[in-house]
This record gives sequence, C-alpha cells and structure tokens, in this order.
Amino acid sequence: MKQKENKKEIKDSNNPLESMFARFDTAAKCIGLDDETYNVLKVPSKEIIVNLPVYMDNGSTQVFHGYRIIHSTILGPSKGGIRYSMEVDLDEVKALAAWMTWKCAVADIPYGGAKGGIKCDPSKMSKGELERLTRAYTVAMADVFGVDRDIPAPDMNTGQQEMAWIVDTYSKIKREFVPGVVTGKPLSLGGSLGRKEATGRGVMIATMEAMEKLKMDPRKTLAAVQGFGNVGSYAALYYQERGMKVVAISDAWGAYYNPKGIDIPKAIEYRDANHGRLTGLKGATKIENEDLLELKVDLLAPCALENQIHSHNVQKIKAKLIVEGANGPITFGADNVLQEKGVLVIPDILANGGGVTVSYFEWVQNRNGYYWTEEDVFNKEDASVKNAFSNCWKESKKHKVTMRIGAYIFALQKVADAMKFRGHF
Ligand code: GLU
Repeated sequence: MKQKENKKEIKDSNNPLESMFARFDTAAKCIGLDDETYNVLKVPSKEIIVNLPVYMDNGSTQVFHGYRIIHSTILGPSKGGIRYSMEVDLDEVKALAAWMTWKCAVADIPYGGAKGGIKCDPSKMSKGELERLTRAYTVAMADVFGVDRDIPAPDMNTGQQEMAWIVDTYSKIKREFVPGVVTGKPLSLGGSLGRKEATGRGVMIATMEAMEKLKMDPRKTLAAVQGFGNVGSYAALYYQERGMKVVAISDAWGAYYNPKGIDIPKAIEYRDANHGRLTGLKGATKIENEDLLELKVDLLAPCALENQIHSHNVQKIKAKLIVEGANGPITFGADNVLQEKGVLVIPDILANGGGVTVSYFEWVQNRNGYYWTEEDVFNKEDASVKNAFSNCWKESKKHKVTMRIGAYIFALQKVADAMKFRGHF
C-alpha cells in the first residue's frame, strides 16, 4: 500500500496554459472570486492569428503563423513581448498573455496583458528574412498595436533590432514617428537607459528581498543560473556584484560549473565574442543542463525556458530559494513538492517584472519626449520591485499560501476591483 502511494504520479502538465490555470484557480478560490469576474478573466479578450507569406532568400515563399493574444485591457492598454520560436502555439501564447496581465498588476503599472509570437526558427533565417517577417507581422497587426491600445516588446529571440523594424513599419503606416508603440527599442530610437539590464536587475532585487526574509548572507550564497541570455546573464552579473558566488551558468548548448565561482563579466565577454554561445568556456567544467538544476546550491535562478522544474526532477532540487527569471519555468505539479520541501519560490510574475516595469518607463519617456538618466531608471525600478515583493509577501502571509499564490491573489484583486468600477454593457 505504502509503496503504491510513493509511486503515485503527481498531477502535472507541460502545457503552460494548464499551469497558469492551476494557479489562477487556486488564487480565485482562496479569495472567493465571483463567477462573473472569473469567467471574464478565464479567456483572452481578443485572439488574432495571421498567416504571413514571406519571400525567402532562395526565391521561395514561406508562410509563417503569427499570433497576438490580448488577454486583458482592464487596467490599461495591453502590454507584452513577441517571441520567435518553433515552440510557439496558441496555448503557449494564451498562457503568456495571461501571465502579462498578472505581471503588470503585480508590478503596479497601468497595463493589461498580451503576448505575441511567430512560429519560426530564427537561427536558420537570414537578417533579411527576419526583417521581412517582422515587417509583415507589423503590417498585419497595424490595427491591433497602438500607443494606447497594445504595446509589444522583446521576448524570446527578439530584441532591439526587431523592435526597431516594428517602430519603423508602424510609423510608416501612420505617417508619423510613433516610438511609444513598442518598448525595448535601441537608445537611438527612443529606447530607455537601463531597459537591457532591467529584467536581470529585477531578478536580483527580488532575490535580495527574499534573501533578507530567509536571513541568507549573499557572501555565503552559492548560486546557479540557468540561461545566459538577456535575463540570466544580467542576473548572474548582478548576483556576483552583490557578493554571491555564481558556481554554474548555462545556455541552450551546455552548462558550466566551477565550485569556486565563475567570473561572470569574463563569461559575458566570451559569449559576445563567440557568436552568443558559451560553448568552450574556460575555467569551468562542462556539465549537463539538467544537472545544473540539481546542484548543491543555495539559490537557483531558472532564466531560460518553461517547464524546467517538473514532477520528475523536483525531488532532486537542493536550493532553498528559487527565483523565476523565466516565464513558467516550474510546472504546477512541482509547486506543491517545493512547498513541502520548504523551498521559497519567487514566482515569475513578480521576479521578472522588472523588465516590463522599465518598458513602462520607456513608454512614459516616449510620451513625454523627455529622457531619464540610468540612475533614475534603476532607482525607480528597484523601488518598484521592492514594493511589488512586499505586496505579494503580505498576501501570502495573510492567506497562508505560497508567494506564487500570494502574487496571483494581489493581481486578481487589483484587476477584479478595476473591472467592477468599469463594468460592461
Ligand atoms: N517579454 C517580457 C516579459 O515577459 C517583457 C514584456 C514587456 O516589456 O512588455 O515580461
């Protein structure tokens, strides 16, 4: 009997939409959310699917599937990035759009949530092909995007260049320069100082707040960071700056471990000179990517993909603090096990909210035509992440739930309150 119980499969799923709903339902039950509000927030307010024919360099035409899901505009214009990946599908984009609604509410910025995606493999496309695809997507979405309507930003495999193509295409359609229609732009096109570092910086601030609660000393903390893109590399850099020892880092091609600590500025320099990859990094041992998650460290920051910690590896996690730099890196089935193990998880919708917070600052600067110093941006971001942390912490204590459910509760209450005031027809 006992054996049978031990072997019991944990209910789990790799579908990010199911993962999102599992938490949303728990939070909704916890605060006794009424059915009307629940039914409105359960579904996206708008789903746009486009098929984009694009000339490829070899003379052929390829049709790409593009999505933009507007989950909610209750708190303001919808906000959220655009990702380019072969994994993009309707459910993933729907989940990510809803996460943006909760994330913006937790960050206390006046936005709803959205997400976009194009199913493509950017590593196999030329710059010209990516440009034509991005411009085709922008033309198709010209009536969806808007400074006060829906504001895209970078996400997985998109960055300043794609945002520049979007602002250029959109501005040509509107016959005026409209920098506020997208954030994460290059500085020369109205981007904000500090936006590049913002998500990783926010991860660090959220981590420091959590460490204070756990009475962890940064100088005695060993950290492992999964993912060395825009989020993970800055998170690792800031961790080291704050005195932590980052013993493991990784990218999609491999993980690197040195119990004495990895020199992060050097690793960034190496990556930049090595076509964006850590492959061949000196001064660390190459290990398997899955093994990085199971290292004997105090702090783990998954800053790569969804579904990295799940029912099959969660028992092997040794960190006492996990900070989600990525969106959805822990499946809902792993949540309970981590809670039972006494691991503190700082959820994505709080931990990586520094990115969209500085996107908001960029948008404010674009609207005012007045630009802030980096110090201004960082000071305001730090204060905002600390405030969001404290709000979620309070909810989690009040309702005796995890930080994740506390964050969902905070977000749900805010959106539900605004919805009551706005009403519908
Ligand atoms: N893609 C980022 C996220 O998932 C940033 C979104 C934004 O800045 O609008 O939070």
